[in-house]
Amino acid sequence: MFLSLVDSFLFPVVCICCQQPWSYLCPSCKLLLTIHPEICPYSHKYSSWFRVHLDERSNKDNYLDWCIVAFRYDAIMKRLISTFKYYHRHHLVTFVAWQLALHIRTNQHLQACNHQNTLISRIPSHRWRKYFVKWYNQSEILAYQVWLELWLTCAPLTKKHKHTTAQARLTKEERTTNLLGSFSLSDDHLILKNKTHLLLIDDVTTTGSTLHTLASLIKEQFPHLCIRWVVVARNW
Ligand SMILES: [Zn+2]
Repeated sequence: MFLSLVDSFLFPVVCICCQQPWSYLCPSCKLLLTIHPEICPYSHKYSSWFRVHLDERSNKDNYLDWCIVAFRYDAIMKRLISTFKYYHRHHLVTFVAWQLALHIRTNQHLQACNHQNTLISRIPSHRWRKYFVKWYNQSEILAYQVWLELWLTCAPLTKKHKHTTAQARLTKEERTTNLLGSFSLSDDHLILKNKTHLLLIDDVTTTGSTLHTLASLIKEQFPHLCIRWVVVARNW
């Protein structure tokens, strides 16, 4: 109780957009968030429930089956995502995770998902980045919160053993080589044997190359798996 009072004194709860007190995102600013249109992430054409168009998938040798994006990456969303680094702003993470869970619950193609056939996982970060640079892995925090909302099985599945340059800073050609040999399956990946759906949770993505690399690594071992990428926003 005392620590909580000190915390609220040092870090007063105000809206990240309009600075109104009592919540990290006030009801008025929540209404300004823009829902992302249902499109294929590669062709950018309308696609019901965010399914990747089959012709696009075969053309690009893509292993993702669906790409569910909750919001447009506008100014509010950009600020919201950047505040994830302050983990004590827990209500904000909870709100975003709740939105992702809502997208999963209401997607008619995910109605058959349950704790027996579906697994939630996060995008791994290298230990150096997690513990010494950023001090957190936002994908891990989100995946955990989504798991709390949905009570599906949650496991790490993959690990990153090479510290790489941030993908957004590289050219298209550099991005494809930057991640080579960076990821591997973790010890608990065998849990996928009995699963048919995988939901990879992330906050925001620009290039999609990390997701593509992870999906190809997983599908090599588990080709039967339907992999869905669930992100808060996509920065086109
Ligand atoms: Zn506000």
